[in-house]
Amino acid sequence: MKLFIPGPVDVAEDVLQKMATPMISHRGKDVTKLQKSISEKLQKVFFTQNTILLSTSSGSGLMEAAVRCCTSKGAAVFSVGAFGDRWGKMAKSNGVPVDVFKVEPGIPTLPENVDKVLATGKYDLVTVTHNETSTGVMNPVREIGDVIKKYPDVIYCVDTVSSMGGIKIGVDECGIDICVTSTQKCLGLPPGLSICSISEKAVERAKTIKNRGLYFDLVELYTFVKEKDFQYPSTPSLPHMFALDYQLTKILEIEGLENRFKRHEQLAIRVREWADTYFKVLAKEGYQSLTVTTIENTRGIDVGTLVKSLEADGFLIGNGYGDLKDKTFRIAHMAERTIDEIDDLLTRINKKLGFKL
Ligand SMILES: *Cc1c(COP(=O)(O)O)cnc(C)c1O
Repeated sequence: MKLFIPGPVDVAEDVLQKMATPMISHRGKDVTKLQKSISEKLQKVFFTQNTILLSTSSGSGLMEAAVRCCTSKGAAVFSVGAFGDRWGKMAKSNGVPVDVFKVEPGIPTLPENVDKVLATGKYDLVTVTHNETSTGVMNPVREIGDVIKKYPDVIYCVDTVSSMGGIKIGVDECGIDICVTSTQKCLGLPPGLSICSISEKAVERAKTIKNRGLYFDLVELYTFVKEKDFQYPSTPSLPHMFALDYQLTKILEIEGLENRFKRHEQLAIRVREWADTYFKVLAKEGYQSLTVTTIENTRGIDVGTLVKSLEADGFLIGNGYGDLKDKTFRIAHMAERTIDEIDDLLTRINKKLGFKL
């Protein structure tokens, strides 16, 4: 089966093999070396000097940690779809004061709206979804960051789960305090590890918050990494760490970051051109994702049947997410996917739907 769904993605065979590396102690010198190597490489991928934290959980783990550990007055959650909504639910279920600012599917979060909301003085934490995997909207996190810089008390949190490693996100340039991703999307690894970068400002804020929990306490994670030789309070998923270290070397030294970004862009352009010819891209122009395209079902096709029929051929695409099911469908073009594979998929869809080439 070839996966064209927005996570999990297909993992290269040599990377998968690294998951089977013999175990080491999670308290020895070797684990320190491994973790340090991963951190240095991730700092390059994130374009940051901030501290890198790993968590044995999926991306949602560190998303919940961010909003729980770092909100004091209130969280302003900007949602452009299902994953933005989830950040709102996480805040609520942890008793964190929160307001969710939601827009219609396909519409981005705009800096001027963030400015208006922050000008009320009610909030000291903001969450933004960089790449909303349900609607295929990519938000202008840099321009939003420029607005947030005017509010020095605000902690800026960004969900880059479906974009980090596929799209350039300059974490320091954007002023992102907590940038969260996970392994099973653009980084091209199996699911099971969550990654974030965290600024000193976010750590200082977290220290003032009571009831941060324990497993997802960002202060505890940070302190172990900083003061205990890059180790973790509990046993991390060492198999993921072996594979991550190896995959990061491949990304940085074999493909090269710039080439990887370029490839993702080319894949996105190809899928968009196809979508614009036969259907319509849901996301507003100028805000369309470079890693997943959500296509509006303007022809009223039976999406379920298309998905099943492609699956029978060994190609898995995504139906719409949540409320957008059957009204949209999604083609992911992330991690190791190539132009030839995308062309092959699109040709098959054309045949199945009776489109002329
Ligand atoms: C997949 C995804 C998540 C959830 O990540 P998990 O690793 O499954 O917890 C969150 N946000 C976005 C934008 C995603 O695409």
